[in-house]
Order: sequence, then structure tokens, then C-alpha cells
Amino acid sequence: MVRKKVSVVVPCFNEELNIEVLYLGVKEHLPEQYDAKFIFVDDGSTDGTLAQLKKLKKNRDDVFFISFSRNFGHQNALKAGIDYSTGDCVISMDADLQHPPKMIPLLLEAWEDGYDVVYTVRNDKGNGAFFKNLSSKMFYRLVNMLSTTRIEPGAADFRLISKQVAQQLSKITENYLFIRGLIAWMGFSQKSIEYEPGKRFSGKTKYSFRKMLRFAAAGITSFSVKPLRISLIAGFVIALAAMSYGFYAIYAALFTKLALPGWGSLIASVLFIGGIQLMVIGVIGEYLGKMFIESKRRPNYIVKETNIEHDK
Ligand code: UDP
Ligand code: MG
Repeated sequence: MVRKKVSVVVPCFNEELNIEVLYLGVKEHLPEQYDAKFIFVDDGSTDGTLAQLKKLKKNRDDVFFISFSRNFGHQNALKAGIDYSTGDCVISMDADLQHPPKMIPLLLEAWEDGYDVVYTVRNDKGNGAFFKNLSSKMFYRLVNMLSTTRIEPGAADFRLISKQVAQQLSKITENYLFIRGLIAWMGFSQKSIEYEPGKRFSGKTKYSFRKMLRFAAAGITSFSVKPLRISLIAGFVIALAAMSYGFYAIYAALFTKLALPGWGSLIASVLFIGGIQLMVIGVIGEYLGKMFIESKRRPNYIVKETNIEHDK
């Protein structure tokens, strides 16, 4: 029987102390009928990540790496790993062991059952990360309200995809990648599995509040033009209200003795409308800015060094 090949893709941004532990953890849990091939993507790390990868690669023929010219971000690193993978299926996971390697047999089982995408959903109960849980809940609620593609709350970038899905995903070259959303959008037969996230093994989180906000903006504006429509409707409703108020003011001046001093309401309505206008322009600007960047058709990442021969 031919042994099936599994590509394991791991984005790494300053993860020097995690790489080997993750490698050994995955090897330990991978069922023996599979051959694993690891693709570590060094996303412009400034610590010893690349050196560590080269060290790990020595005497091992299942370790591969891609090193970027600078930090291109988690989603682009993930994309690079998928682009370079050749396995019958691709498993992507974080370097910090928050995605427990012991789940891998379950992912593979579901794949053998015929699913093309097996994604995992974080079980947030009792992990104490109050802010992260709350922001993640709000984020998914907002995304699902605004978008036509439903993303399961808590979905993680710890997943298995079949070769066919990986090849299709490689063809997508948009700049603001939100891979979870793309995978949900792509269809195929999908299954979700719950997992208990582990503690980060070493180092600290690379998702600063700013990166999280940027990620959230990509998630919302990549999958929906509804915010544009909402601003249109809001503008219309407010304009209508302002107009009726104008008519009332004329009526009051002509036919009643209520000669209104009216300063307060005047200023309030001017500022209110001004604020709404700025907001609407902001939403339009967000989309326009994205179009500006996308129209340049720049690559998602630049590879400085790799030990993978690639002909795509
Ligand atoms: N990561 C990356 N580039 C970045 C930020 C993060 O490749 O710019 C990687 C990181 O090394 C890790 C994964 O993405 O393997 C998830 O990041 P992290 O654990 O810091 O995020 P958190 O789990 O705190 O959301
Ligand atoms: Mg993490």
C-alpha cells in the first residue's frame, strides 16, 4: 500500500524555543501509516528561529522551511506553507503548541471518512482569557451579521484540508487574506471538531491589539459590502429626519408664535449629520483603500530562502 503524505504547515514568528517541541509532539501523535513532511514558515523572525530550523533540518529529511524577507503576517505565512505543500492533505497549526498535536489523529480520521476540510473550534470554557474570549465572540457575531459567508465562532487556523482544497486555495491571491473565511466560502464537505487550547509553550503572543483589529477589519470587509449599504440607509434615514425637521421649522416660523431661538438644536443636528457623513466616508475609504492595494497585484509574500524546490 502506498503511504499517504501529510504536509504539516507551521507559521513561525519568533518561535525559536517552540519549533523542536512541536516537531517532536507531532511526530509522536501522527499515526504510523502516514508520512509527514513539515513546512515551517519563518515569517521574518528576528530571533534564532531560522537558525533553529536549519539545525532541526540537519539529519532529518522531513523538515523543510521557507524564510520570508520580512514579517508578512500570520495569514500570508499560512498561505505560503499551503502553496509549497505537496501532501495528500495539509494540516496547519500554530508553532506555540496551543493547537494540541494529540488532535491530529482525529483530523486524519475525519479526512479518511471523506471530508475535504476538517477545521477545529476552540472550546473557550474555563481558560480564563476573558478579554480574548469576549473580543472573539463580538468579532464573530459582527462578521456573521455583516457577511453572507458564515464562520463558526471560535474557528481556529488549526485544520486539515485535502490536496484539492489546498490547490484551490493557492489560486487565491488577494492581499487581505482571511483564510478562515475563504475556507468557509469555498464549500466542499466540511466538518468541525472541538479542541481544548493548550497554553503557549514559550514566548509571548504575536497578535498585538493592533494586529487583531487589522485582522478583524480584513475579516469583515473581505466578505461583505453590507457596511456600504448600511451607511447608505443610515444616511437616507437621517437626511429624511433632518428634512422633516426643516419643514417643521418653516411651519413653526410662519404659522405659530413660537419664534424659536433654536441654537441648540441647530448645532446638534449639524454636528450629528457631519459625524454621520464622516463615518460613511470612512467606510467608503476603507473599501477604496483595499481596491487601491489589490489593484497593484503585489505578491502575498517574498521568500528570501528555502530548501524546497518549487515550480509553481
Ligand atoms: N505568527 C506569524 N506571523 C505573525 C504573527 C504570528 O507567523 O505576524 C504565527 C505565530 O508564530 C504562531 C501563530 O502565528 O505560530 C499564532 O500566533 P500567536 O500564537 O502569537 O497568536 P495567539 O495564539 O496569541 O492568537
Ligand atoms: Mg498562540
